[in-house]
Amino acid sequence: MIGLSFEKVHGRILLSLKDKDLRKGSVESTRDERKNRLEAFNRHPYVVEWAKEVRSIKEQMLQDSPKLIGEFRDRFEKNGGHFHFAKDGDDLKRELLQVVGKGGLLVKSKSLVGEEVALRQFLQSNGTTVFETDLGEFLVQLTNGVPAHMVTPAVNMTESRARKVLEPYVGSELPNVESMVLGVRKFMREKFFDADVGLVGANALAADTGSAIFITNEGNGALTSILPSKLIIITSIEKVYPRFTDAIKACVVQTNYSGFMNTSYIHAINGPSAGALGPKEVHLILLDNGRTKAMGGLQHMSKKAPTFRDERMSLSETLYCLKCGACQLACPVFKEVDGAWGGQAYTAAIGIPWTAITGSPTEAKALSYFCLGCGECKEICPMGIDIPELIRRCKSI
Ligand code: SF4
Ligand code: SF4
Repeated sequence: MIGLSFEKVHGRILLSLKDKDLRKGSVESTRDERKNRLEAFNRHPYVVEWAKEVRSIKEQMLQDSPKLIGEFRDRFEKNGGHFHFAKDGDDLKRELLQVVGKGGLLVKSKSLVGEEVALRQFLQSNGTTVFETDLGEFLVQLTNGVPAHMVTPAVNMTESRARKVLEPYVGSELPNVESMVLGVRKFMREKFFDADVGLVGANALAADTGSAIFITNEGNGALTSILPSKLIIITSIEKVYPRFTDAIKACVVQTNYSGFMNTSYIHAINGPSAGALGPKEVHLILLDNGRTKAMGGLQHMSKKAPTFRDERMSLSETLYCLKCGACQLACPVFKEVDGAWGGQAYTAAIGIPWTAITGSPTEAKALSYFCLGCGECKEICPMGIDIPELIRRCKSI
């Protein structure tokens, strides 16, 4: 994905339009996104109000970012956890290697921060055996692909394609989706027990309690975070909420706007376990990777000059994003070509400014030309982010 140009994106989009299986998967997976979201809102009518509340909390959070990070670190360390700060991907990998070492078995839950720095590939190149434990991410791993969507990485994969991918690993008796899920569950079970390290992402951090909160649909996050004796949590600096209740609210808003179904599990980890079960060593790595610069150049962690100084060119609104993926599902371009319109970690809609901040501004610029400017993404965003405007700014980078 290095050196993505306008021509390369265009070529990938044309190829994807010719791939009937991929298009069928895209259409099927995005067909009911509005209906599902409305059902979620009917079940939880307070969520729209909560979304407004979270937006105003996030506005203050970005102002208070250094203070909140400090508070979180102190509380997390008091809880017995090990806190690490990584200013970029190389830093994160260095910290990670010191904790994981070379070799061994690591089970991993879904993490977009991990995608930003190609973490799985890095660990594998250092001799660690890695298994993605989220079903969608496991399919992405087996196909050497990149996630097509923030919440459901293999959203575009049809049942027949998934069957072909899974057969060599979980056997050929896979008549339906249920049998595939059961097959993967059986395959993964022993990996959880044998793993030396578990690695999870976090959707939110709470500064007042030092908690890392993450949400999953499949329960894989619980096994990843409880069974191995060493746990690593990786996440990014814009997710440090002042209070535990704010962090939970943000997670509930995120899951309701994702437009698939209610998320099944919300996990909170404060530090190592004192009981018989649970990790005895917990590390948290907090990644910046361009976010401080995007905030307008807070100088507390980076001495480099901010990239987006001019307010008219600022991409800082991106940092209000909860990564619910609703803007991607609502986007007419994503509905047709999904992952073909994206960079290393992020696809479509808000994925374009995220690519500019955490990856390559040049690649974001190449991707930005395929936005129709229709505004569907802005309309659905729980944080009210003006995504078309941010994409327009990426065009001028
Ligand atoms: S404005 Fe662009 S990114 Fe947003 S929904 Fe329309 S085409 Fe997609
Ligand atoms: S920009 Fe808004 S809709 Fe898109 S992923 Fe972020 S929070 Fe969700």
